[in-house]
Amino acid sequence: MACFILFGPPGAGKGTQAALLSGLLSVPHISTGDLFRAAVSEKSPLGVKAQGYLDRGELVPDEVVIDMIHVRLAQEDAQKGWLLDGFPRTVPQAHALDALLTSIDQTIDVVLNLSVSDEFLLDRLLGRGRKDDTEDVIRRRLQVYHEQTAPLIQFYRDRNQLTDVDGSSPVEVVTASIEEAVKPLLA
Ligand code: AMP
Repeated sequence: MACFILFGPPGAGKGTQAALLSGLLSVPHISTGDLFRAAVSEKSPLGVKAQGYLDRGELVPDEVVIDMIHVRLAQEDAQKGWLLDGFPRTVPQAHALDALLTSIDQTIDVVLNLSVSDEFLLDRLLGRGRKDDTEDVIRRRLQVYHEQTAPLIQFYRDRNQLTDVDGSSPVEVVTASIEEAVKPLLA
């Protein structure tokens, strides 16, 4: 059973690292951003609800995200562990995750915090070309990160669950640091 959270600002490389790490750990990579983008392109009721928030770089309301994660963690492939990418993103989401995990008898093994400076992120995000990556939206997403998501660093640090990883190094160096950090948990 391996339960991980990959945490970090938009553009820190969470998606890339999560894809590699989920292979290494043999657990599903659960990205709330990917789930929302899929819902938006399918125009499902969830997608219709989420679209405006994604377009503006705002967070989708907590209860919508929490319901979605509840459903996702109940699926068959998530019973032996998972790697969460992009969730939780607010303190209420972190509390809701705690309650959910208690109810399904699971615990978080580690929260990997990919830390990267804002200037670096802006350059990286502008080069990425995703639909929600215009400069205004990127700046808003960074602001939202600092206001609503960064407080979670202290939340998990206080519980001794946080491991910092320097996300500004080249991809393979970041991957090696992450592998080093999770190795003791794989034994
Ligand atoms: P991401 O790909 O993780 O950067 O997420 C893209 C967008 O999806 C975000 O800008 C939010 O609008 C939405 N989103 C993803 N995860 C969450 C979450 N945990 N809480 C609220 N909104 C989210």
